Amino acid sequence: PFDILVVGGGPAGASAAIYAARKGIRTGIVADRFGGQVMDTLGIENFISTSYTEGPKLMASVEAHVNDYNVDIMKSLQATGLEKNELFEVALDNGATLKSKAVIISTGARWRNIGVPGEAEFKNKGVAYCPHCDGPLFEGKHVAVIGGGNSGVEAAIDLAGIVKHVTVLEFLPELKADAVLQERLHTLPNVDVVLNAQTTEITGDDTVNGISYIDRETNDHHHIELAGVFVQIGLVPNTDWLGDTVERNRMGEIVVDKHNQTSLKGVFAAGDCTDTPYKQIIVSMGSGATASLGAFDYLIRN
Ligand code: FAD
Repeated sequence: PFDILVVGGGPAGASAAIYAARKGIRTGIVADRFGGQVMDTLGIENFISTSYTEGPKLMASVEAHVNDYNVDIMKSLQATGLEKNELFEVALDNGATLKSKAVIISTGARWRNIGVPGEAEFKNKGVAYCPHCDGPLFEGKHVAVIGGGNSGVEAAIDLAGIVKHVTVLEFLPELKADAVLQERLHTLPNVDVVLNAQTTEITGDDTVNGISYIDRETNDHHHIELAGVFVQIGLVPNTDWLGDTVERNRMGEIVVDKHNQTSLKGVFAAGDCTDTPYKQIIVSMGSGATASLGAFDYLIRN
């Protein structure tokens, strides 16, 4: 069995694994996709110590750092359940079970779906979630961004440099993004913003050809012809596999204490899957370190 088993291989999990391995204890890390969301990130300018880096480059150096230690890295495996018997048991999608004295959950988050007709049907056929990944596919075309929070406005600014035109559809009467982002957005000539817009359908034949929305103030129905829709309405934590084993808030985020311990003693959590308010690389790495030190403390007391 492991002393500490880390579930999830993003920045939080990698940091937790390094901190655990440095204590000289048996450490494992199991991850569906090593690198996590950072692999979808192009430019990173807020990772302290480096003015500019790119996601895959950063995570390659994180993986190399993990490999400096005796960590058992198990990739392309998904955890499907957690149980407490004599030890903690993490069930995997290949039928195997991993046993550990303490567990750190760092399964991160994924894009939230809007749930309107056409979204699932046209996924990867015009419906996209990652502007950095898919933006260039829409060069010279008209696209919409659903969502006027930080991620939506950032996406719109990014896309405006690549595509012909961007329409931002915001459900509320005002954009929720930071003021600096909004100011930047309003300087761009090929972006317009529609407020009070409730998206009702993404239309298409083989691929997306438009988007329908209702103006929530006037109840008028509108349709815009375009080639792509970027859904930017937030992140959902990857925590459904835990069921009721640990306390989660109404957003599905794992509730943790100051030591990043969950409601189940011996199970810790870190990064975007927790109820921490800010979802950032540096924050998730810090919480991975906290969770690992918390788990080590738990081990020496039990
Ligand atoms: P994640 O990175 O989500 O990693 C989760 C890990 O868990 C992955 O390895 C995943 O495969 C694995 N996993 C999930 N479910 C399971 C399961 N059931 N079993 C096994 N493994 C599982 N932050 C910044 O600080 N600066 C930026 O510039 C920045 N830009 C961003 C741009 C984009 C497009 C996105 C999406 C995010 C950006 N972020 C940025 C946020 C940052 O990427 C996240 O805060 C950070 O990746 C969270 O790390 P994490 O380890 O908690 O989770």
